[in-house]
Amino acid sequence: MQVELTNATKKLCVIGDPVGHSKSPLIQNTMLKALGLDYIYMAQYVPRGQAAQWLQAAKTAGYAGFNATMPHKVDLVPLMDALDEDARLYGAVNTVAIRDGKALGYNTDGRGFYQSLLDAGIDPAGRNVVILGAGGAAKSVALKLAQQKADAVHICNRTHSKAEELCALDPGGVLRPAAMDHDTLARLLPDAQLLINCTSLGMAGVEAQFDDLSFLDALPQSVPVCDLIYAPPETLLLEQARLRGHQTLNGLNMLMCQAIFALEHFTDTTIDAQAMKTVLKPVLSPAP
Ligand code: NAP
Repeated sequence: MQVELTNATKKLCVIGDPVGHSKSPLIQNTMLKALGLDYIYMAQYVPRGQAAQWLQAAKTAGYAGFNATMPHKVDLVPLMDALDEDARLYGAVNTVAIRDGKALGYNTDGRGFYQSLLDAGIDPAGRNVVILGAGGAAKSVALKLAQQKADAVHICNRTHSKAEELCALDPGGVLRPAAMDHDTLARLLPDAQLLINCTSLGMAGVEAQFDDLSFLDALPQSVPVCDLIYAPPETLLLEQARLRGHQTLNGLNMLMCQAIFALEHFTDTTIDAQAMKTVLKPVLSPAP
């Protein structure tokens, strides 16, 4: 994508190690162009353990802000001058706005997922939810669902200790650790009202797949099935759920919502999200 630069162009970027795979420059530069804002958004390699040095450099170089991906999200937390409620809750920052030399840290993961649920007509309040996975994405999704009054959120994970650690962050007892085996899923799914895959199983470029998706047979057909993965647009899990008659939702809208929230933080403006998504969709999922 061609971006026009002037001497007044403000700088934004995503930092990571690795960072080359990030779709953020494409998404953010598309939005900046559509909004006619004089910013440029780049991918910036920052080695593991160098978040503090990067933040100082970004302030010195006059960056307006940056997004953070693996492995910097946790390291940034103590470096911030202020944190939003979600960044504090998740112990992770994925968006930093730099204003008057101060670093303001946000986390848009949980909010992006919650908004994508609402956009699909799914209100998690009062629901019995089953989450597969207990990594970084599961953490923000699960804590956001607890905050938004889900009735129970079962965290099913291969490594049980990680599910327990995540559930310990919720003093309200909404989050409950569980195994991710066939018997456990067969027991939990008949009462589930929402199923969410937060593992990397099925993601493009990752060899690991669900060995067996027959656990879906235990899920009532009226229950929506979500996958945070957006590449491929339809994972095997979502395909099997769709074939069984479930409403399905991939991670694309979550990705777009998060990007829009981040740009709002960087520019301190409000963006028309629906209009922006119509600009982003063809860029992110071009017609075959
Ligand atoms: P992560 O922190 O590395 O967590 C990975 C999770 O997958 C862990 O629960 C891990 O279980 C599980 N897992 C990995 N390989 C497995 C296997 N072979 N069998 C069973 N479980 C396995 O990753 P993350 O940051 O949470 O991201 C998870 C997924 O969400 C990724 O696909 C990512 O692309 C997607 N995501 C999407 C968005 C969006 O905007 N749509 C945002 C964030 C993330 P263990 O704990 O046992 O290792």
